[in-house]
Amino acid sequence: MALVGRANVGKSTLLNKMVGKKVSIVSNIPQTTRYQIRGILTDKEKGQIIFIDTPGLYASKDRLSKYLHLSLNKARDDADLIYYVVDVTRAPGAEEERLMRDLSRIKKPLVMVMNKMDKGQGFSAEFISAWQANTVDNGNLKFFIPVSGLAGTNIKELILVTYSLLPEGPMYYPEDTVTDFPKDLSAADIVREKLFAFLKDEIPHALTVVIDELEERKNKLLYIKATVLVNTASQRQIVIGKKAQNLKEVGTLAREELQELFKKRVFLEILVKAENRWRNDPEILEKLRFFD
Ligand code: GDP
Ligand code: MG
Repeated sequence: MALVGRANVGKSTLLNKMVGKKVSIVSNIPQTTRYQIRGILTDKEKGQIIFIDTPGLYASKDRLSKYLHLSLNKARDDADLIYYVVDVTRAPGAEEERLMRDLSRIKKPLVMVMNKMDKGQGFSAEFISAWQANTVDNGNLKFFIPVSGLAGTNIKELILVTYSLLPEGPMYYPEDTVTDFPKDLSAADIVREKLFAFLKDEIPHALTVVIDELEERKNKLLYIKATVLVNTASQRQIVIGKKAQNLKEVGTLAREELQELFKKRVFLEILVKAENRWRNDPEILEKLRFFD
């Protein structure tokens, strides 16, 4: 099943909550989910749910954005059920209504997941009437469900509804799998998340992290070499900080989380490069798996 919705509505947070583990990067900087991420939930009796987290919708025209659109379409085509995730703290605007019209035409059952209810009812009534106004006979909608991905409210109920709407099929993954996301991309996501969280508004969206090495060395030490790519020399300086202070702190935070994820001691090396136009560089895009 696919999670679809605008950037920042809480898709990745919800996925992590449902699977019970951090499989998808969460950041309050929009558009951070660049890859299609699968989260897997297995219940011995009820079966296996495969969640696909898709990037939010984009307006920009560079090459990276085209891949994002492709992966959104792919998720829609591959899924048996769609979660349309909305943020009730923000009023539905024209872009949201366009998305509603597009989604209602897909011939797949759809659940409107009204997220961030920990902040109150917000615009939930407006979302329901916008859906009704933009669809014919409610389209493919099965339920409206209020949840909080952050607080975990109604998540069990959402899982039950999901099992009831999904068709039966084979188990695709071993019971204990929670994600099929590759290790290097997980490591890159963690470094990126820490950069975003630590540097907040100072750094632009034009930033990516590539893992050049990830290997176990002597003494069971996991050696990880990450390169942060930015567009300009001044962005590079911001990321590094005075006396490399930013980079040190980001490194410490990232290393702690990497050790938790891989259950190993980690040696993390972070380099920062000003590499103009990486978004159109085939070699870098390949490392980021945009040529799957
Ligand atoms: P995505 O872009 O749709 O994947 O959204 P994220 O999962 O990255 O979340 C975007 C922001 O919304 C983050 O700052 C989250 O902490 C926040 N968020 C997500 N779910 C909730 C929720 O249920 N309640 C509140 N208050 N904030 C949330
Ligand atoms: Mg996300």
